Amino acid sequence: MKNLEIAAIFYEMADILELQNVKWKPEAYRKAARQIETLSTPIEEVYEKGGIKALTEIPGVGEKLAKKIEEYIKTGKIKEHERLKGEIPKGLNELINLPGLGPKKALKLYKELSIDSIEKLEKAAREGKIAKIEGFGEKSEENILKTIELAKKKEERLLLGVALPIAEEIVNELKKAKGVRRIEIAGSLRRRKETVGDIDILAEIEGERSDIMDRFVSLHNVKEVIAKGPKKSMILIGEGEYQIQVDLRIIERESFGAALQYFTGNKDHNIELRKIAIQKGWKLNEYGIFDKQGRMVAGENEEEVYKKLGMEWMPPELRENQGEIKAAIENKLPNLVELSDIKGDLHMHTDWSDGINSIEEMINAAINMGYEYICISDHSKSQRIANGMDEERMLKQIEIIKEMKRKYKGKITVLQGCEVDIKPDGSLDFEDEILKKLDIVSVSVHSRFKSSKEEMTKRIARALENKYVKILNHPTGRLINEREPYEVDLEYLMQICRDRKIAMEINSSPSRLDLNDIYARKAKEMGVKLVIDTDSHSVDHLRYIQYGVWVARRGWCEKEDILNTQSIEKLKKSLNLKI
Ligand SMILES: [Zn+2]
Ligand SMILES: [Zn+2]
Repeated sequence: MKNLEIAAIFYEMADILELQNVKWKPEAYRKAARQIETLSTPIEEVYEKGGIKALTEIPGVGEKLAKKIEEYIKTGKIKEHERLKGEIPKGLNELINLPGLGPKKALKLYKELSIDSIEKLEKAAREGKIAKIEGFGEKSEENILKTIELAKKKEERLLLGVALPIAEEIVNELKKAKGVRRIEIAGSLRRRKETVGDIDILAEIEGERSDIMDRFVSLHNVKEVIAKGPKKSMILIGEGEYQIQVDLRIIERESFGAALQYFTGNKDHNIELRKIAIQKGWKLNEYGIFDKQGRMVAGENEEEVYKKLGMEWMPPELRENQGEIKAAIENKLPNLVELSDIKGDLHMHTDWSDGINSIEEMINAAINMGYEYICISDHSKSQRIANGMDEERMLKQIEIIKEMKRKYKGKITVLQGCEVDIKPDGSLDFEDEILKKLDIVSVSVHSRFKSSKEEMTKRIARALENKYVKILNHPTGRLINEREPYEVDLEYLMQICRDRKIAMEINSSPSRLDLNDIYARKAKEMGVKLVIDTDSHSVDHLRYIQYGVWVARRGWCEKEDILNTQSIEKLKKSLNLKI
């Protein structure tokens, strides 16, 4: 899939053009890049099926850009991109891409201090040189250092939502190799951790000659072959602005289960299992369980390994040494919620605010997903950059959705919602007069993330006092690798939510995953009800629901803990909806 590669090139072209003071064009490139990035079908497939014409049907992609996409699919590069890159000093690109710096500031630093790399930028910031430049100051120097920290972290760990599709594509390619009997993703990716450092793949091969390693080291997006051997190879994969190491190991049949268990981890979970094996007089390693005489007790299947150790097999999401081993021994593992339990999505945007698709397109996509209900929840007026709705437009949308409710009756229940901003003083962006007309009011913090813990807690607590509020969205406001969660007394907010029967959201957007797994478990333990929502800004995003389900599973949540596993009738009672 070349979507991310092409999006990254368009972003880069936009940055360079902006640097050269070209008007309009940068925005056009960015707009197209955003669309291509969220496309769920491989763009090369779109092109193969319908040529240039199909490409121009992607919003934001005109004839000119479509031709560039074609050029990339055919030749692996875009000439104009190569030309533009030649026009700017090397290294400056890296700086442009730092969040918060951007083309203009990067150019200024280049002119004044000849900074053309992140290393030089970091050094200058540490020496206090940046604060002295006009238009920067101490605050922005501090921010630059923080951004560099985060950028470094970003290089280390990729979002699950980025790494998993890359891994799945590799596995699909490798399945075509000769003699592959089993192939599995292991590691933190299998545990569905929110970010991953590398990708581990295990394969079992039947017969002597397989071309699996040759295929592996010549995948289309290999940047570097770190090592190639008959049993283990390591490569560096580059995809768009990301890169990640991928290890492939060939495992014997009798050891496959033990290896899968071992390489899935996590480390602490494995240490505990090894202790249990030792107590039984055995040895456990990546090849199997062995008795004192060195005879193999188990190894071919993971289930068998766990069974021999005296416990039930458990889903990989639980393997963090957080009580799951004890629970498995006592037959008390939770019955984790599953994707197929989800009956509706309560958080999504349309072209009434900053979404891409129309209300009806969202409804039809939800019907295709087999949902029983959805809630349209566009932004409220304070979200000016997101084209938030003022009272007048809100009332207009209510009329439109009333029509939709009738039109789609029997097919899906459409609920009228709104993602209402919590203002800095804790009041809501709409008066009760408007709120009472909505089926579901959900509330969010989108501003002043740097308030003190006390202020933020007070602000949200006040918002939750409003009797119309049903859901608290993305409760910590973090963006993984980009923005830390705001400081807030979450436990206190959980108490309020529990007492007032307000649900907390597990936001499934791969860069949010908020609540995270730890807080999801905490919420469950405190008796707070949860909803898993996508916060979709296009029909393609609806499929992200899976990521939220994984968070819930890592948080030990069962079907009963998640309100949108309920039928609409039950949901009405649970949230006390007046519909
Ligand atoms: Zn939005
Ligand atoms: Zn939001």
